[in-house]
Amino acid sequence: MTQPHEVNPYRNAAVAFASLHGKADHVRAAFADILGALVVATDAVDTDQFGTFAGDVRRTLTPLAAARAKAQLGMRATGLPYGLASEASYGPLPGIGISGHEEILLFIDGERGLEIIEGSRSLITPGTACCVSDFTEIESALAEWGFPAQGLICRPAVGGEASDIVKGITTERALRSALAASFQSSVDGRALVEPDLRAHHNPTRQAVLTQLGLAVAQRLSSLCPMCASPGFGRTGTDLGLPCSDCGTPTDLALQDIYTCPACAHRQKLARPSSFAEPLWCPRCNP
Ligand SMILES: [Zn+2]
Ligand SMILES: [Zn+2]
Repeated sequence: MTQPHEVNPYRNAAVAFASLHGKADHVRAAFADILGALVVATDAVDTDQFGTFAGDVRRTLTPLAAARAKAQLGMRATGLPYGLASEASYGPLPGIGISGHEEILLFIDGERGLEIIEGSRSLITPGTACCVSDFTEIESALAEWGFPAQGLICRPAVGGEASDIVKGITTERALRSALAASFQSSVDGRALVEPDLRAHHNPTRQAVLTQLGLAVAQRLSSLCPMCASPGFGRTGTDLGLPCSDCGTPTDLALQDIYTCPACAHRQKLARPSSFAEPLWCPRCNP
């Protein structure tokens, strides 16, 4: 693995980030500091065509396929050989079923035919929806959501059209007027208010994008020890750390798997601990 700026192929490269929601701002520093690369925002791509959180455009692609399509469209729109795109999912997290936030950040190097993906899973979300019939009913939720840094969406609770959905609400005045309109057009006179999950209105998501930008830039700065391709890094983990008492494999991580995105080179690196506490053992503590 090399030091940043040493044999770094992305020095002075421009990278397109297709987003209507200012995502480039959150990864720009990492790409500049670690790679010396410039992240260029492009809003020439209507990324909402791949689906919206508000549900007015349905998502049809998987998050990975949507991110790939956005990155490629951004590269085409700017004529740049490098592209970034991200995709978020909110809902029950696989495996644990608790509601959370998943985000992937994908980088395409069209010159070398490489694709790098870093992902994040977090239980931190901007909060859940609230159904109200009066402004006073929403006041405590506003504090929990972190309004107005966290923007809101307001719509009629029952019925209404896609055009009745008001997004990107960041002032009390706008909220009051959206509520009044929703009370009017809702069959039951109530409004559904929820956090706007788009990146430019979502501080918890911005923090995740910053962290993923760092992870992707670091990964790109690491070269494969066999073929010197950029992007050598951790892509998986083997479970099965043995119990310290009986040696039975547990569900804890045993080793990390590092792979090259260009050649078949793989490396396995053991985790610092060689044994698991019997507490995690399916035999000692079933
Ligand atoms: Zn055991
Ligand atoms: Zn390689």
